[in-house]
Amino acid sequence: MPQAVWKPIPINFTAGGQVEVRGVVLHIMAGTLPGSDAWFRNPKAQASSHFGTGRGGQLVQWVDTKDKAWTQGTGNRSWISIENEGKGGDELTIHQLERCAQILAWAHAEHGVPLQVTSDPDGRGLGHHAMGGKAWGGHSMCPGSRIILQKPEIVRRARIIAGQESGPVPWPGRLLRYQTGVPLMYGQDVRTWQAALTAAKFPVKIDGYFGSKTRTATRAFQRDERLVDDGIVGPVTWRAGVQK
Ligand SMILES: [Zn+2]
Repeated sequence: MPQAVWKPIPINFTAGGQVEVRGVVLHIMAGTLPGSDAWFRNPKAQASSHFGTGRGGQLVQWVDTKDKAWTQGTGNRSWISIENEGKGGDELTIHQLERCAQILAWAHAEHGVPLQVTSDPDGRGLGHHAMGGKAWGGHSMCPGSRIILQKPEIVRRARIIAGQESGPVPWPGRLLRYQTGVPLMYGQDVRTWQAALTAAKFPVKIDGYFGSKTRTATRAFQRDERLVDDGIVGPVTWRAGVQK
């Protein structure tokens, strides 16, 4: 998946073992992203996942989706897995929620996964580990009830990304910022942000270049919204400006 940092693991998966893709399954690591990365490279683990998210929005891919990751027992052969950094009982952060939506939207385009919630191991769509019961390892607390409650929001975001539902433009998945010493960040996403700033009474030139004036206006906007005024547009600032 192009938005993910590819960090392939040499062991703990079955090459070519993905016989079908019914959907995407949410997990909680009960640990950290670096911890999972190290564990999946350990021969003792006998475990892995296709994707991993960090609470700050990191997205890594350990296993190709043609291959079978070892995450959820008999569900492995037909489901793509996402391990989310955090401990039992946590909610996904807004960053993780957006990442899970991106993966689901990608799985829809790549593998035809329907953009819907499911809690049925024979169903299709966005599932979660505990739904597989004993056959999936009996992990009744994975990923926990608070994340299960976030499934409809993940699906909704994925539907917007896929253009199936109209709604506010989702965060583009990269931090928009002013950078010195390198070419200015440029793109349609910057243009969208500049239009949002202008609409929010912090007018800037809508040219698609994230220059110092866009940074200054972003800081003023953030102060007005009582956000951290770092001048960097992550999902929280984006949501406050674009997704009114
Ligand atoms: Zn799990």
